[in-house]
Amino acid sequence: MLDRSGLSKEEADAQWHALYKINNNLYRVANDLISNLYLTDEVDNILCWNNQEYNDLYKALKKKRLGEDEKAELEERMQEVKKTIDAHRKEILQRPAQSVAYSFVIDGEDREGLEKEILNTLKQNVFSHYKADSKEVRRGEKSISNYKKGMPIPFPINNKCVRLYEEEGTFFLQWYQNIRFILHFGRDASNNQLIVERCLGKSEDGITYKMCSSSIQLKAGKIFLLLVVDVPKESFKQKKGMVVGIDLGLNVPIYVATNQTPERKSIGERESFLNQRMAFQRRRKALQRLQLTRGGRGRSHKLAPLERLREAERNWVKAQNHLFSKEVIEFAKQVQASAINMERLTDFGKDETGNVKEDKKFILRNWSYFELQNLIEYKAKRANIKVRYINPAFTSQTCSECGQTGERDSIHFKCKNPECKNFGKDIHADYNGARNIAKSNDILKE
Ligand SMILES: [Zn+2]
Repeated sequence: MLDRSGLSKEEADAQWHALYKINNNLYRVANDLISNLYLTDEVDNILCWNNQEYNDLYKALKKKRLGEDEKAELEERMQEVKKTIDAHRKEILQRPAQSVAYSFVIDGEDREGLEKEILNTLKQNVFSHYKADSKEVRRGEKSISNYKKGMPIPFPINNKCVRLYEEEGTFFLQWYQNIRFILHFGRDASNNQLIVERCLGKSEDGITYKMCSSSIQLKAGKIFLLLVVDVPKESFKQKKGMVVGIDLGLNVPIYVATNQTPERKSIGERESFLNQRMAFQRRRKALQRLQLTRGGRGRSHKLAPLERLREAERNWVKAQNHLFSKEVIEFAKQVQASAINMERLTDFGKDETGNVKEDKKFILRNWSYFELQNLIEYKAKRANIKVRYINPAFTSQTCSECGQTGERDSIHFKCKNPECKNFGKDIHADYNGARNIAKSNDILKE
C-alpha cells in the first residue's frame, strides 16, 4: 500500500486530485485504443477479402507442391497487393480529431496529467492484451476487452521521474508530478518487503530482481503499488546423469525415485484423493437425477448448481495437482537431478494388444494426469530441469535392479532372477516402476 503521510494537507490534496484525474481518463483512453486496434484489423480484413487479386494469390499460395521460384514470385506479388491495401486502409482510417485517444496520445496538448510515459506504457499493454485475445475474438469466443474506471495506472520504473528508494529503513516511490509515496507492507504475508529489498539490491540473501513496468491502483480510497519484477531462473546444484523417474501409480497418485540413489518418495494419498473424488461424483449424480425428474421449464436455471459443482471439482483437482507437482520438483532439487522422466500418457497402461487395462483406465479417468504432467513440465522448466517422456511399456514388469522380467501384483514386485540382489524380496511395485522410468533410455519426446 502506498501512503502520502508526511505531506501538508494542501500537498496531499493536490496529489490526490492529480491521481483522481488520471484515474478518470485512463480507462477511456484504453477503451478507445483497443476499439481502434479492432477496427483497424476489421477494415484490413474487409479490404483483403474484397480484393480479387489478394484472394487469388492467397489461394495460389495455399497450394501444395509449389516450386521455389513460383512461390517467391507469388509472395512478391502478395507484398505489392498488401502495400496497396495498407495505403487504402490508412486513407479510410484517418483518425478523427474528436477521438479520445487522439487528444491524449497524439495531440498531447492537454494530457490531463497523463504523462507521455504512462500513455506509452498503456499503449504497449493494450496492444499486447489485444494481440493475446485476438484469436479468440476472431473465433467469436470473446469480445474485445473492456477497461473499467479504476484500472491500474501503468508506468515504467527507474527513470528520471519514477524511482524506488530506501531511506533509513523506509521505502519510497518517487512518482510523476513530484508525488512521493511511502510504501506500507501491512502484515506482509507474501513477503513484499523482501521483494522490494531485492529490487533495490539490499536484501540479505544477495538476490536481486529486475523491476519492470509496474502500476498503481486506486481502490476504496487506498493506493496500491503493483510492482512487476523479473525473477531470475533459480539455480541449484545439479548432478549430471541424475534422473528422477515419476511413476503414475496404482497405489499412490505419484511415486518418485532416482536412477542412481536409493532415495524415493510417495506423493499424495490414494484413499483421501479418491474419497474426495467419489464425493464429488455422488453429488453430481444426485443433482443430475434431480434435473431429470423435474425437467420442464427453467432448465438453465437448474443447470447452474451442477456447473458450480463441476467448477468446484475442477478447482480442487487443480489445487491437488499444484501440490503434487511442487513436491515432485522439491524432490528433484533435493537429489540434484538434471532431468525428469515421465511416462507418455498416450501409451499409458496399454497391454500387448494396445488396449488400456481396466485398472489404468480408472486411474486415467480419476487422477487428471495430463494436467499434472503439464504442471510438472512447467515447474521443471522454471527450475532448469529437463523433462523427457519415455515409453511406458514394461516399466512395471521389469526388475529395476537386473532388468529381467519378474512378477507383480498390485502392491509388490518379485524378481525371479537368482543372481539378482532383489531375488526373493518383496519390492514396492511403484518404487520399482519409478526406478525403471528413471533408468529408461527409451525416450519418445524431449
Ligand atoms: Zn532383479
